[in-house]
Amino acid sequence: SPAAPLLSVADLAAWYGESHVLHGIAFDVAPGEVVTLLGRNGAGKTTTLKAIMGMLPRRTGSVKFDGCELIKAPPRAIARAGVALCPEERAIFSSLSVEENLMLPPRVKPGGLSLEQIFEMFPNLKERLSSQGTKLSGGEQQMLAIARILRTGAKMLLLDEPTEGLAPVIVQQIGRTIAHLKSEGFTIVLVEQNFHFAASVADRHYIVEQGRVIDMIPNAALDANIGKLHAYLGV
Ligand code: ATP
Repeated sequence: SPAAPLLSVADLAAWYGESHVLHGIAFDVAPGEVVTLLGRNGAGKTTTLKAIMGMLPRRTGSVKFDGCELIKAPPRAIARAGVALCPEERAIFSSLSVEENLMLPPRVKPGGLSLEQIFEMFPNLKERLSSQGTKLSGGEQQMLAIARILRTGAKMLLLDEPTEGLAPVIVQQIGRTIAHLKSEGFTIVLVEQNFHFAASVADRHYIVEQGRVIDMIPNAALDANIGKLHAYLGV
């Protein structure tokens, strides 16, 4: 039988003030799996990641991680459980150096990557150690943002559009990073607009539409479902 899910989201609803945005999101992620959330702009993908992370004031339903119910937990408890969000806006400190950025994240779990391990994975960052965040390229900023969450010891990574605005060669690098993280046993939920990138890294794809998960397509079945996907995504 397949492994018990590491993350299990059921009936997840969320609001921004009076605005009801998620209407019962449901999906599972097995340990070591890479899954994507695909969908049109405004479908609720970013909101789903924020709701899992406990960052929205009002949410209901169930978010089970590693057997623990987290729907009522505050963000710091969710981080301590081993879940980390790398937001679309690449939360790095632009006035601080690469090294300072890497020293800031608290180690919430044993197993946070050492600087040495970070530099092995991102040799570019080692060369830029004393550079200020603002001096980094978009790709380097994205690597740094991912490196920062790896410092914490999180095992479940929520990556929000890591390839956005990056050149194709850098997108490939991010793809290799994700493949490497998977091989190291990390579990990843990826929000992506770049459909080809999504297909190159993920095991399965969940389709989000109007605050609900309306379909799941295994990566191996993408070609057979390409017409359906075009209809969902409008691409
Ligand atoms: P995108 O790729 O455009 O980010 P998405 O699928 O990630 O799309 P969300 O950002 O989750 O979509 O947005 C879902 C809905 O929630 C949209 O209708 C959006 O306008 C609304 N929304 C997002 N952020 C806020 C906010 N801070 N306050 C109010 N409404 C919001």
